[in-house]
Amino acid sequence: MAVGKTASRVRVDGVGKRYDGERKTVQALEDVSFEVTPGEFVCIVGPSGCGKTTLFRIVSGLEAPTSGTVYVDDEPVREPNSSMGIVFQEYHLFPWRTVRGNVAFGLEKSGVPESEHADRVRQLVELVGLEGFEKSYPKSLSGGMKQRVALARALAVDPDLLLMDEPFGAVDARTRAMLQDELLDIWRRTEKTVLFVTHDVEEAVTLADRVLVMERDPGSIRETVEIDLPRPRSRTDPDFEEYYERILEGIR
Ligand code: ADP
Ligand code: MG
Repeated sequence: MAVGKTASRVRVDGVGKRYDGERKTVQALEDVSFEVTPGEFVCIVGPSGCGKTTLFRIVSGLEAPTSGTVYVDDEPVREPNSSMGIVFQEYHLFPWRTVRGNVAFGLEKSGVPESEHADRVRQLVELVGLEGFEKSYPKSLSGGMKQRVALARALAVDPDLLLMDEPFGAVDARTRAMLQDELLDIWRRTEKTVLFVTHDVEEAVTLADRVLVMERDPGSIRETVEIDLPRPRSRTDPDFEEYYERILEGIR
């Protein structure tokens, strides 16, 4: 391997996670291993409770595994760092900050000089299609708009890796389709690596280069499905339907 070049952006190596409760123990993850190459769009799909969020939090460095290791750019992950942009299902916006303030938060922790913040925020707001709402507060925004703010904030530090946990789970179908299109567009233009968690098989087949299909009890990867379809993809394409059925079968 050439010096300074990594073959995998993310490497999850034998990761397990056990929660020891007072009355019971949950094996949330068992022996999960996979890699994500630079620029790849990988979706993790599986039923509720199969450990998707647990895996997401471990890859993000928000939680430690009980066994195994996660590497990002060949470094073991111990805490979230600025090479990652993280988007949660529940937005996690600061209610006391405007759209501009929320997006700027991402920059305040970055190495970007303050003189460049205003320009950068303007670009990010434009990138996610929120021009005109810079002074709005989260409470006045729809779910889809809040998630755009969260995405812009995550992109503020220009992370190589974007980690998303069911980011479009709480918005209506039309908005979701729009956000999916926009995310693919941003991914294509910025060449970022995306690890995207969803319980929605249609969403996974629409977005991913590769789908990791999980099962529960214990949470583990059941199969990996490469989606060899040109983009934009359509649900009405028979090949799409074939992938859809195959993956759905896997998680039933
Ligand atoms: P998913 O995101 O796929 O719905 P989770 O990762 O949230 O699944 O949960 C996987 C399993 O781990 C579930 O059985 C859940 O109840 C359990 N679990 C998750 N977080 C905790 C926790 N902090 N303490 C105890 N059990 C947990
Ligand atoms: Mg979850």
